[in-house]
Order: sequence, then structure tokens, then C-alpha cells
Amino acid sequence: QWYFDEDGDLSALDGKTVGIFGYGNQGRSQALNMRDAGVNVIVGSRSDASADKSKEDGFETLPLSDAAEKADIIFMLVPDEVMPAVYAEHIAPNLQPGNVVNFASGYNVHFKKIVPQTDVDVIMLAPRMVGQGVRDTVVAGVGFPSLVAVHQDASGNAQNTLIALAKAIGSTKMGVIESSFEEETIADLFNEHFGFLHAVRQGVEVLVEKGVSYEAAILELYASGEMREIGQYFVDHGLFEQLKLHSRTSAFGQLAWVRPNEAAEKASKDHLRGVIDKIKDGTFADKWDEVQKDQMKEFAQTEADLKAQPFWQEEIKLYKRLGRL
Ligand code: NDP
Repeated sequence: QWYFDEDGDLSALDGKTVGIFGYGNQGRSQALNMRDAGVNVIVGSRSDASADKSKEDGFETLPLSDAAEKADIIFMLVPDEVMPAVYAEHIAPNLQPGNVVNFASGYNVHFKKIVPQTDVDVIMLAPRMVGQGVRDTVVAGVGFPSLVAVHQDASGNAQNTLIALAKAIGSTKMGVIESSFEEETIADLFNEHFGFLHAVRQGVEVLVEKGVSYEAAILELYASGEMREIGQYFVDHGLFEQLKLHSRTSAFGQLAWVRPNEAAEKASKDHLRGVIDKIKDGTFADKWDEVQKDQMKEFAQTEADLKAQPFWQEEIKLYKRLGRL
């Protein structure tokens, strides 16, 4: 189900104070959009560069706990990996029955890293748009899509609040779609785990194996910017319709010539099924917790191992030559 501007009633927010926790990519844009829509917005921030920015933008800016005490509707917009600690220290102790807690990602609630008390509404307003785009598309009058969900409806009014907030951040202009914390989490992580980076890496490695230089392979597969252009075609025209913008030779090559056979298609889909299973059963989330608790050693080691490979070194050389590093 989709919801549009006519489905949202901003009077559901009358007399309410929205607290933005994390004045970063999403926080700043959502705060500015809501203020333009007439919503009373304050910002909760540790004393940092973001706090200076929110003051400069004219928002009342308070320490996190003070803002949590004052706000009726809490927007959790700090990075996902620090969110459980921020919630436990500053938000939970200051929540009142009837407050609303809103997330822009289902991750921490779905994996029970945050379990809000039962007498507050818990909702999700997850823009499918980068932070700056959340502001720019609204200023341009088009808006952006979001996935929305109610996880806990203590007040009996959570759905109305959710759609009103979706309207206030400017998302119902394009439309928001009913989802769930689980669906948003799985789709969002899958996008990252899909293997795009490794597909490009393998492409370069095989080209090099077959006698193409690193420079030519890297330029061809991503450094030239052609990929960015094609990505924009995907966004603007769709995966299949964009083929019309290519030469017929290119379209035939993309669509038909390299079509995987049944066995290859099954093998790659089986791999992706395994990736989703590990997201769904919490294996990835547990692993990520473990890595963070271990001072990110495995993350650093993986990067170091890759960096020792000729590919990464060749990329650095090329990018220095191109004046990009
Ligand atoms: P950012 O990294 O841009 O913003 C983080 C903000 O939180 C900054 O103001 C930062 O302040 C502050 N912050 C960082 N660490 C702490 C801490 N320990 N205590 C208090 N404040 C802290 O986050 P995003 O806007 O990218 O993400 C916010 C949420 O939005 C996440 O749940 C994310 O999944 C979701 N989301 C993000 C999208 C995106 O495109 N970025 C798209 C859709 C959803 P400073 O750095 O100044 O210290």
C-alpha cells in the first residue's frame, strides 16, 4: 500500500516537539524539511561539529539527554552502529509513556539491539534517498520515496503519526510504501552484500588474466565514469528500458549474448540465497557486533590483505596519475 500527501494530516503533530538525534546526512535534511512544514523541531547532539551546524541553522540544540526529555517524537538518526549505546544512555531513561520513537532503518529494532519499552509507539520512516537528496528533492518540489512501518502501536494512533511525519519530511509527495522493519533491514543489507564490488573486482582480474593491462581494465570497468552514466540510466529509465539508450551491438551483448545458462544462473542465485539467509538469521549482525567488539581487527586485516594485492596497488597508481588521489 502506498500513501501520498492527501493521506497525511499534519495536525497529528500539533503541539508536539520532534527531537532529531544525529544532525548528519539524514538528520539535517529531515530537520530542515520538517521545519519548513511547520513542525516544531529541536536537535539533540553531543558537543561536536554537527551541534555547531544545527545552531548555525537556527535549531534549538541541546545535549542528547535534555533533548530526549523535551521531545515527544524521537528521530534516531545517529549511525546504526552507535545507536544502541546512544539509546540506552540518553533516550530510554528520558522516554515518557505516549512518546514516539522513529527509526530511519529497521536494523537495530529488528535484530533486538534496541528493545523500546512497551508504552511508546515505535515507527520507521526509511528514506530510499541519500541525505542531501532528502533536502534537495523536496526543495525542487518532487520529494523522494520511503519505506514506512509501525512496529509498536501503544497509542493506537501510530499509523496517523507515521504518515503525518512522512508528509512533514516531504516523502508523501512522491509516495511512501508500507513495509516492515524486517523487510527494510533485509533489503538494505542485501543491497550492500549483493557483491557488486566483487563482481567488478573479478571482472578486472579476469581481463588482466586475459592480457589486458590493469590501467585499461580499470578505466573500462569503472574509472572512466561510464558506469556512473549507466547507473543513472538505470535510475531514470529502468534496468531494461535503458537498453534503448545503447547501440544495438551493446544491447545485444548486455541482454542476450552473455545470458547465463541454467547451471550458472542457479549457482549465482544459490550464492545470493545463502547471503540472504545469513542476513535473515542474524549471522551477519552477530558477526558485525563481534568485529566491532574486537576493535575492528578483522575489518582492518581484510583491507590490509586486499591492499597487498597488485590490483589495489595498481588502482592507487592509476588514480594518482589521474590526479584523483
Ligand atoms: P551520519 O553518519 O550522517 O550522521 C551521524 C550523526 O550522528 C552526526 O551528526 C554525528 O555527529 C552523530 N553521531 C555520531 N556518533 C555519535 C555518537 N556516538 N553519539 C552522538 N551522536 C553521534 O548518519 P546517517 O544520516 O547516514 O544515518 C542516520 C540513520 O539514517 C541510520 O539509521 C541510517 O541507516 C539511516 N539512513 C541513512 C541513509 C543515508 O543515505 N545516509 C539512507 C536511509 C537511511 P558528528 O559526526 O558531528 O560527531
